[in-house]
Amino acid sequence: MASDCIFCRIASGAIPASLVYQDEHVVAFPDVHPQAPTHVLVVPRKHIGSLAELDDADLAGKLLLAVAEVARRGGVAERGFRTIINTGAEGGQTVPHLHFHLLAGRKFAEGSLGE
Ligand code: 5GP
Ligand code: ZN
Repeated sequence: MASDCIFCRIASGAIPASLVYQDEHVVAFPDVHPQAPTHVLVVPRKHIGSLAELDDADLAGKLLLAVAEVARRGGVAERGFRTIINTGAEGGQTVPHLHFHLLAGRKFAEGSLGE
């Protein structure tokens, strides 16, 4: 764990957070500044800086399956949800620990990929 990384500290329990999902490799918790009625961050316990640094296919699959599980548990899987991964400065990433945004509970523009 990177002790100066906020998501490492949440994943290790050093900072208390209400985890909506956790397993051996993955944790999920609400975003502190929600952009939708449901806004959950799904992150690997291991410190990985961004998607550009992910080289573990097994972990990649586990993360994606965790996103789907969080959506089912949150009751939003059927109506639909949006999943976003921001990578690097131009990708809009502000926290340098890989995370999947799971957003739901409002209608997102069809086909919109953002600005
Ligand atoms: P990014 O811009 O890197 O894709 O997303 C980072 C997200 O992390 C933002 O949506 C921001 O609101 C959220 N965030 C930043 N610091 C914290 C924190 O300490 N706790 C939680 N739960 N979310 C955070
Ligand atoms: Zn980290």
